[in-house]
Amino acid sequence: MGASPPQAFSCFSWLKKCPPMSPSAFHSLYVHIPFCEAKCDYCAFYSIPDSSSELRKKYLLRLEEEFSRHSSQCLPLRSIFLGGGTPSSLSVPELTRLLSLIRTWFSLLPDCEFSMEANPNSLTAEKLQIATEFGVNRISLGIQSFNPKIRKIMGRKGSLDNLQDIHEQIKKKPCLRLNLDLIFNVPNQTLFDWQEDLQRACAMAPDHLSAYALMLEEGTPLTQRIPKDENDEEFCSFWETTDRILNAHGLFRYEISNFAKPDKFCRHNFEIWHGQTCLGCGPAAVSFNGINRPANPGTLQDWLNHAPQIDDILPPDKRAAEILAFGLRTTAGWKYKDFEQLTGFTPWKLKSGELINLQKLKLLELDLDSIRPTEKGLLFNDNILEALI
Ligand code: SF4
Repeated sequence: MGASPPQAFSCFSWLKKCPPMSPSAFHSLYVHIPFCEAKCDYCAFYSIPDSSSELRKKYLLRLEEEFSRHSSQCLPLRSIFLGGGTPSSLSVPELTRLLSLIRTWFSLLPDCEFSMEANPNSLTAEKLQIATEFGVNRISLGIQSFNPKIRKIMGRKGSLDNLQDIHEQIKKKPCLRLNLDLIFNVPNQTLFDWQEDLQRACAMAPDHLSAYALMLEEGTPLTQRIPKDENDEEFCSFWETTDRILNAHGLFRYEISNFAKPDKFCRHNFEIWHGQTCLGCGPAAVSFNGINRPANPGTLQDWLNHAPQIDDILPPDKRAAEILAFGLRTTAGWKYKDFEQLTGFTPWKLKSGELINLQKLKLLELDLDSIRPTEKGLLFNDNILEALI
């Protein structure tokens, strides 16, 4: 398991300076684009394959309505994340419309991180050009595996035929940072298969890499055809191999599944794990206003029909405990004073018994001014989550 580079992810100077646990303006924007070219067998995200242009037109109209209603609640944005679904599955005019709506309704800080998820088979040089013209400065490519055998086992749709071309286009744009998504823990995947995927990804010189363990989600075709088989020892060797290979290429784990070069972590996700506010737009998108996490209706049809949001209201101490646990997904963890400034609680006031117990189990390390997960605490992070929430 690899060590993080010193002080890489310890700057919390941006944490909000306002009364603890009060509803606040939004610092960031997430837009859910619920369309994909086809549905992957393991996918439990909300997405619609083979949508009509008529449906996507309705989506963009409703999105404009949502932007117009909520943009006044936003500060100049620190980050924007276009996720899904597959944002690159939109046509050129649709993508142009989406990006121009964002630039019409929101103001962005000069250094706003602007991420867009894309699949290699639907991202084109033209879409890339349009995206960068509207300020996108981070592309997240869904690879999952380079290996046709593994792609087939997990039921990953789409092809990588266009990958080399699009990678060259990305590398020609110095304003763009590159993330690659990979998946491990796939049935019948050998450690050698995984090493090859990691090496091929590193050869593309990404700034950031997300390595997710495959989850067998209820109701997906993959779960129906493959029985659950949890092997902790095997999982650990995949985990350790990931650190070893990525560290050798200058990428360091800063969250359970995320690795980055020292100054290239994903600001959007990092701030969300540290309790910052976010406006979620589009079907199934979730917002956080500092107190409540309202979720938009979970289907496109309900969202188009203005079905009400689903609230997630918690008492302040329970919300603070949730924020504490989310921050402990990251190697940076929490500085006590930052956590108190954000929530009005100290970790000790909230959960002293649990924290001491987690320290005894060597899942957390505590010192005079901060708390963070150990390497074991990252690997078995569910235990921290269960204890604190
Ligand atoms: S491309 Fe991504 S969002 Fe779309 S079906 Fe596949 S895994 Fe799900």
